[in-house]
Amino acid sequence: MYKTHTCGELRASHAGQTVTLAGWVHRRRDHGGVIFLDLRDRYGVTQVVFNPSLPREVLERLSEVRFEWVLQISGVVQLRPEGMQNPKMATGEIEVVASQMTVLNPAKPLPFMVNADEEPDESLRLKYRYLDLRRERMKRNLILRHEVVLFMRKYLSEHGFIEVETPILFKTTPEGARDYLVPSRLYPGQFYALPQSPQQLKQLLMVAGVDRYFQIARCFRDEDQRGDRQPEFTQLDLEMSFVHRDDVLDMVEGLFTALIPAVAPHKRLLASPWPRLTHAEALDRYGSDKPDLRFGLELHDVSALFAASEFAVFRGALEAGGVIKCLVAPGCAAYTRRQLDELTDYAKETGAKGLVSLALTAEGPKGSGAKFIGAAEIARLQEQTGAQTGDLILFVADEKKTANKALGALRVRLGNELRLADPSVLAFAWVVDFPMFEWNEEEQKWDAAHHPFTMPRLEHLDRFETDPGSILSDAYDMVCNGYEMASGSIRIHRRDIQSKVFALLGISEEEAQRKFGHMLEAFEYGAPPHGGMAPGIDRLVMLLADEPNIREVIAFPKNSAARDVMADAPSPADERQLKELHLKIVE
Ligand code: ASP
Repeated sequence: MYKTHTCGELRASHAGQTVTLAGWVHRRRDHGGVIFLDLRDRYGVTQVVFNPSLPREVLERLSEVRFEWVLQISGVVQLRPEGMQNPKMATGEIEVVASQMTVLNPAKPLPFMVNADEEPDESLRLKYRYLDLRRERMKRNLILRHEVVLFMRKYLSEHGFIEVETPILFKTTPEGARDYLVPSRLYPGQFYALPQSPQQLKQLLMVAGVDRYFQIARCFRDEDQRGDRQPEFTQLDLEMSFVHRDDVLDMVEGLFTALIPAVAPHKRLLASPWPRLTHAEALDRYGSDKPDLRFGLELHDVSALFAASEFAVFRGALEAGGVIKCLVAPGCAAYTRRQLDELTDYAKETGAKGLVSLALTAEGPKGSGAKFIGAAEIARLQEQTGAQTGDLILFVADEKKTANKALGALRVRLGNELRLADPSVLAFAWVVDFPMFEWNEEEQKWDAAHHPFTMPRLEHLDRFETDPGSILSDAYDMVCNGYEMASGSIRIHRRDIQSKVFALLGISEEEAQRKFGHMLEAFEYGAPPHGGMAPGIDRLVMLLADEPNIREVIAFPKNSAARDVMADAPSPADERQLKELHLKIVE
């Protein structure tokens, strides 16, 4: 070893010992002849003192030393002089009085400071990610991620799960995104697909009798880069045999309930057991299937209250079969015209035709709805919604889906603006009873709401021909603070049902055979009933680390345009490679 101790290890009890440290120059201060260097490694920072009495060669070499040079330093540990201790540093009681220094490697001037508090530009951080990862915050994130994964591995192993690796070079595994394809050199014109998840393989492991499987699994999805997404990301993928829905939910809830205090004691779980909402209820009450439950601000359906309203906007919506829904923004009656316009624009961006406001001020009702909503209606509104003087009521009158979406988005925005969400709270919940299929307007066809291997409710099997949109599935999501943290389902383990689902999704017998023949066949050799789910690890660590996006908790992420700017990937292949792969680039 190049060192006897780490830079985070020395304490008062080491005083008098001769030690050798190795690490990076974190800071440097020259005090009239005496030079202080802070030497840093993963474990911490130690102050090293260089006295002017050191041999000239050492002092000369030292004068060249700059930030982030890699040094090996030997010396004696001494207690810092009275009043010079630094209680904020773990090693703040001591310093090392240097007797020798070796430069293990110099460093060029840095593109950004590793030791500074201000945030370097993100494109620079990603280009020089290895420097970025030297920063304290990034190091903490890496360690937290390790602890999360370690805990999961231990907990699940203790509960009878075994970790099994599944292939990366595989066949298409649909999760609603495009596949990444890998051309085969040995089989001209043929491609592997990178798994969008290990979904099929974990189901096959259940057929194999593994009973309880998990994997810290990389998933690859070629999606349009909107929002906070990465082309590859990591899931805790798990699957269990002979289980019903609640067995899976209880297992994962147990894991997370034990995990959070162990790895993130500064976070508080809002409720235990976690609330369970049906998909329909989540939409009705929160306008979202991933509600942030750290605050109330629920949506109210006030259609009945306005059944006889003369207000054209309300009447029009009801006559068209729509609804009138509202939410109450507490204490916001004094919102200015401009603030209301902003909220209206925001509602329109989500597809609503407009937003009606009613401010309950001490001087009486104000806002765009004030003229049309009578005193009796206001009294009933207050009764139904709990709105009080000082509050602002925001209405959307539209199709139910649009009203939920618009008010759901406003709810989140107001929750943030009004600081209703406690950042130290984790409000986990389950959303259950998802619809099995979603109608794809653009392509005029049914899509699987979860994935095509999800079990429809057996009592709904006869609706395949009559009303597929009303079929519920045994799918569930884990949500937290407005994020979808995991999806899962009880799976189809019967070939006849799987064929029925493929048929409705427009996947022909021939295509099903070509793409999933191996699964269909496996289901004919004794497949146990099974189910599972896959919590996303990046998002979880992001929440636990209080980071704003998942790039901060991935060692080497792509940027928001799906590029690796450090290695510059993707990049062109050379002619020889293309030829070997039987590919031609057509511009
Ligand atoms: N494969 C699913 C997904 O990636 C999770 C699951 O159903 O277990 O969302």
